[in-house]
Amino acid sequence: MDLGLKDHVALVTAASRGLGKAAAMEFAREGAKVAICARSDQLAGTTEEISDRTGAEVLAIRADLTKPDDIQTLVQKTLERFGQIDILITNAGGPPPGGFLNLRPEDWEAAVELTLMSAVRLCYAVIPHMLERGEGSIVATQSYSVKQPIDHLILSNSIRLAVIGLMKSLANELGPKGIRVNSINPAWTWTERVQELMTDRANRNQTSIDEEISRVTAELPLGRMATVEEFGRAVVWLASPAASFIHGHALMFDGGAIKAAL
Ligand code: NAD
Repeated sequence: MDLGLKDHVALVTAASRGLGKAAAMEFAREGAKVAICARSDQLAGTTEEISDRTGAEVLAIRADLTKPDDIQTLVQKTLERFGQIDILITNAGGPPPGGFLNLRPEDWEAAVELTLMSAVRLCYAVIPHMLERGEGSIVATQSYSVKQPIDHLILSNSIRLAVIGLMKSLANELGPKGIRVNSINPAWTWTERVQELMTDRANRNQTSIDEEISRVTAELPLGRMATVEEFGRAVVWLASPAASFIHGHALMFDGGAIKAAL
């Protein structure tokens, strides 16, 4: 299937590694021009890797998504270089783990900045441009925790729902103006972060990484974690013109983890 992405411009945030990088790689494979950002030194290597493997034009901008000025600069530089933004993928690092009693109000404020306000600010920065052109597509990467709380991840369980509310509301407001808005909600997908989490659990529980992976995958009907390539294909399809009637949708990318009928 042709996803219709040739020469489209996709801005993918938090993309030096993991899910963001996988999305950027897949957009590039589909012939899109890609702008990526992250805070880390890995960004330059990732940019080179994506352009070497796909031949696509990739713009890397160092930005911290908790800093409003960085978000403005990120969008401005993308527009200066490519002249347009067709697709925005809002993605960010995960909020820290913890239960209610392990955390303090300051942790909640920091997580709101990282998870909710980064999406809000990215939308404020990009939407005026999309409105001017009368088209665009926005996808927020969140988590399957929006359907069912995950133990010891109360910040993710709580604040990501606000992002889903934002996306559903934007879908109503912006659909009539030609802008599609959706979210994608992954369960366990093998990234460096997940590898770090499994290592941490193995150390804390005095088990092996394989044992910890087995515990997680026992909950998934497909019996395994997703690969980043699978995630890349799903998010790129959802954002692309090929999914032109999918709007206001929270796509569960979860290998069947959520068992509810609807
Ligand atoms: P990761 O840690 O491997 O990658 C995170 C990326 O975010 C990196 O590129 C990092 O540099 C960047 N980043 C972090 N904080 C940033 C900031 N303040 N400003 C700019 N960039 C920043 O994580 P991942 O596994 O790719 O997950 C990405 C997101 O998806 C996270 O929010 C995570 O909680 C969520 N998620 C992941 C999974 C999974 O199984 N991998 C499942 C559900 C939800």
